[in-house]
Amino acid sequence: MPAPNQALELREARAPDLEPGAALLQTLYSEVCGTDVHLHHGRLAGVPYPIVPGHVSVGTIAALRGRIVDVHGDAFREGDLVTFLDVHETCNHCYHCLVARQPTRCPSRRVYGITYGLSEGLLGGWAEAIWMKPGVKMVRLPDDLDPEVFIGGGCGLVTALHAVDIARLRLGESVAVLGVGPVGQSMVALAALSGAGEVVAIGEPRDRLDFAHRMGASTTLGLEMPHEGRLAVVRAMTGGRGADVVLEATGSPDAVAQALDLVRDGGRVVIAGHYTDNGPVTIHPHWQVNRKHVELRGCWGSEFSHFYRAVDLAHRFGDRVPWREMVSARYRLDDADEALEAVASREVLKALIAPSGRG
Ligand SMILES: [Zn+2]
Ligand SMILES: [Zn+2]
Repeated sequence: MPAPNQALELREARAPDLEPGAALLQTLYSEVCGTDVHLHHGRLAGVPYPIVPGHVSVGTIAALRGRIVDVHGDAFREGDLVTFLDVHETCNHCYHCLVARQPTRCPSRRVYGITYGLSEGLLGGWAEAIWMKPGVKMVRLPDDLDPEVFIGGGCGLVTALHAVDIARLRLGESVAVLGVGPVGQSMVALAALSGAGEVVAIGEPRDRLDFAHRMGASTTLGLEMPHEGRLAVVRAMTGGRGADVVLEATGSPDAVAQALDLVRDGGRVVIAGHYTDNGPVTIHPHWQVNRKHVELRGCWGSEFSHFYRAVDLAHRFGDRVPWREMVSARYRLDDADEALEAVASREVLKALIAPSGRG
């Protein structure tokens, strides 16, 4: 991606010299995520274009130097199929890492496919190979996990897991999910798997709402119904109170105000859809927050724990949750422009770059 709003280019890059602790992945799949659309529109600050996009990927270890172990102490080997935490170089020295324990805010943090530039090497997934620099945290995919199940959930699954963790969902609680893109779909699935009561998915278009039913939604509401109507339905389903938990995954400022209406008094709202600046919204602090005793939390980025557990969840529940079917299109590297366009126009729910042309 040479610069915002320019056509993508296929370039040859030099293979990295692998230092001890480094590895080279042969890319099997890399995801095309909404963030890549934002990157292409120049909506993220501090991006060192040109970049190799692709922050959630799956690949086979083609080469490695020295002994690299997973969290269990087991050594990685050439031929292992892995994914990796795209966030790298959180310092474990700063205030955010050590005191606040919010490594997503660490100023040293670098992200594959987003804040690493092409000048620094093959540090993004839309490439035939990805350089695992020393310290990158890889997770081995179990032999019997179809990689398309994991990458079908992909970035959205990891983000949804973070948001559901923050919401501290309890068994039987009602959940409203705003947005039925990849993040919202996985929020629905994880809420249902967590033992939620009613899971209401709100969004558009209709085929995505239908898919949300398959992910575990008990009710879906389309945006052709005005907010007041949707609010009345959710209240009627919850004894007039509103949802115990509202998870926002739309990126629409209005959805934040709507989430505060939909949540019950004393309930929890998690804002996960505003990864980039989509503008402000007016809320009424007295009626929507203070008097309601609402707990409102933001959720930005993810940590190793979310990646590790996402692989496990894909393995454990991939036959019940249709993550694999979220993959609606696969593109070769030279069709990456087309992939971006398909995601931007919402023509596909999830697109993958498959550099080897697989699928
Ligand atoms: Zn730090
Ligand atoms: Zn993403």
